[in-house]
Amino acid sequence: MSEEFINTCWVCGSESLQVVKKSDFTGDLDSKNFAITNSDYGKTGELSKCLNCGFIQCSKENDVIHYYENLVDTEYENTREERKLQEKRILKLIQKIKPSGKLLDIGAGSGIMVESALEMGYDAEGVEPSRWLQGQAEKKSLPIHLGTFPMEGLSKNYDIITLVDVIEHVPNPKELLSNICGHLDKDGIFVVITPDVGSLIAKFLKWKWWHFRVAHIGYFNKRTLTQITRDTGFEQIKAMRPSWYFRIEYLVERAYQYIPKFLRIPLPRFFKKIIVPVNLRDSLLVIYRKEEKQK
Ligand SMILES: [Zn+2]
Repeated sequence: MSEEFINTCWVCGSESLQVVKKSDFTGDLDSKNFAITNSDYGKTGELSKCLNCGFIQCSKENDVIHYYENLVDTEYENTREERKLQEKRILKLIQKIKPSGKLLDIGAGSGIMVESALEMGYDAEGVEPSRWLQGQAEKKSLPIHLGTFPMEGLSKNYDIITLVDVIEHVPNPKELLSNICGHLDKDGIFVVITPDVGSLIAKFLKWKWWHFRVAHIGYFNKRTLTQITRDTGFEQIKAMRPSWYFRIEYLVERAYQYIPKFLRIPLPRFFKKIIVPVNLRDSLLVIYRKEEKQK
């Protein structure tokens, strides 16, 4: 990747970048740091903020794809049930706008979104770079293609493209969005979910916010997400704060990182297995259509 690319804002192209957080990562990065369930909160590479648009990016981590190709995340598969509830909830929103059609999930993991979409009658497929996650999907006979988007053989007229918790992982969000626009039917819709660095909780926790982690290299807020999608040919239809589903044991385990030891009370096993919806209002879910001139 060229120096010029590294030193410009990935959203607006400005060269006015200021380092706002030093890297607190020691040692070499490996695929474990990129696991979806990685819990090293607050640890990131060096982050810079664009003085023009406010986007925060990790300019130095611009060659990360091989970490995803080699990623193995067994804990992720253990949370399949709650992740499926989450994907179904997203699909129910989509259903109100597009009750049927061809769906592509980018960064499809082990195919939980695709599996849910197929169950709901969509003609769904996905793309995933991790050999291990794609292998998990293959075991379930789910149509997840190994590799990165865009790839040969994909349709140019999807009715729905989903990008759930992916855009914060890529060093070229603008290129990714332009390619998505090019693969969408003229009446197609595009759904993006990403953490919101402008949310109240992110502001409150500052650098301790759980979404500050090595694998997240681009931090959007409402303004920068609006700008980058507008610049790549999209028009917003709907925006909201999505809920996530978790087992209580997962929440407790993660919360322990924020509370002192004497407050860590053991909980009964049955209680820990319960799945609950959580909405911390620190993610953005936005649905777009193509703007008129892109059609
Ligand atoms: Zn910028």
